Amino acid sequence: MSFSSLGLSEPLLRAISEQDYSTPTPVQLASIPAILRGEDVWACAQTGSGKTAAYALPIVQLLSAPSRPRPRGRFVRALILVPTRELAGQVGETLRHSGKHLPRMLKTLVVHGGVSINPQMMAFGGGADIVVATPGRLLDLIAHNAVSLSAVTLLVLDEADRLLEKGFRDELGRIVALLPGRRQSLLFSATFPLAVSTLAAALLHEPVRVDVPSAPETKPDILQRVIEVDAPRRTQLLRHLIQKNQWSGVLVFVATKYATEHVAQKLRQAGLVAAALHGELSQGTRQQILADFKAGRLPVLLATDLAARGIDVTRLQVVVNFDLPRSAVDYTHRIGRTGRAGATGLAISFVSSGTHAHFLLIEKRYQLPLPREQIPGFEPVQTEVPAAASPGGIKGRRMSKKDKLRAAAARAFPPGSGG
Ligand code: AMP
Repeated sequence: MSFSSLGLSEPLLRAISEQDYSTPTPVQLASIPAILRGEDVWACAQTGSGKTAAYALPIVQLLSAPSRPRPRGRFVRALILVPTRELAGQVGETLRHSGKHLPRMLKTLVVHGGVSINPQMMAFGGGADIVVATPGRLLDLIAHNAVSLSAVTLLVLDEADRLLEKGFRDELGRIVALLPGRRQSLLFSATFPLAVSTLAAALLHEPVRVDVPSAPETKPDILQRVIEVDAPRRTQLLRHLIQKNQWSGVLVFVATKYATEHVAQKLRQAGLVAAALHGELSQGTRQQILADFKAGRLPVLLATDLAARGIDVTRLQVVVNFDLPRSAVDYTHRIGRTGRAGATGLAISFVSSGTHAHFLLIEKRYQLPLPREQIPGFEPVQTEVPAAASPGGIKGRRMSKKDKLRAAAARAFPPGSGG
């Protein structure tokens, strides 16, 4: 199956070929024709599945049809809601790239918080074809009368699960209330908890369901490694791995803003080029750091979950869970930063005695027991009371679920079995 069989026009096909996308990904194969037909779409799509292009390409084509001119004034024709600024920027880039060969350029605006609102208000003069927005800032702009949603014909909720997780439920309700009833709506989400399904049921009209299962052939190609190490030695191990393997594109997840700075500083002291990315940096600094990272000038980036959300670097080699993610869903989001559409990636999780049980829960959620490794010179010495050695758990107490999991893991992966 090729892109040309999906109904995309020549200017878009030209833009695609310049991106070196040879074949459509499964989510693109299923979504693009449906969106071009004007249908609502409800897609379950992981980060890295090519979901952005799956809606960006057909939207650009639909809006460029001569029968759909841009209304004057403060009006917007397509609204794309995203949970974070970084994702907003990347969606904007994909849209601009997709439409670069159109005879008439579409006006695409990207608006998010964290930067001054005035230039964004000015930019709306004369309306826009497409607006990519985080919900809070969009509502601010509406309150300032800078934009009207009454001419929106296309709505996209991207990373809908994240939109809801980030507490945007009320904002979404207020935005949807301002949209015309007759519109095409598309919803993309990596997971479908009840809240997302409820949202989908309320927003979508007889949607085409696109469910690209995480079947092995559609999963991004990611090698997942789990390395046991004592928590205080993680920075040294990280340095060792980066230097030994000469990694040049590493995204390291740490739990706190302080830790991003601290670990980055330690790595710099060891002669590596590394920087921290977190929510308290100014927008300008964040953008500069991301640009350096994308361009390969900055080989190692230490980020919190929130700051790293939406980082889209095609050649990202390695993701390291220096601190484990809080949930299995976050684990997927994190490792989805590597091995994106077609490229092989490597995801490494550091597990220490204190986080061992937590990692077991993540593993259990995906039913993929991963062998534990130890790196010579960094073998852990801090150990928990091995659960297998005390099968009854603590005396007088029933074995908890976690204890049972630990015991099962200890049986499945006796120390040293992982190579
Ligand atoms: P996302 O949109 O977040 O799922 O990320 C998709 C990543 O894969 C981006 O880096 C895109 O540039 C890339 N990509 C999208 N579609 C394709 C395709 N058909 N072939 C190869 N890479 C793609």
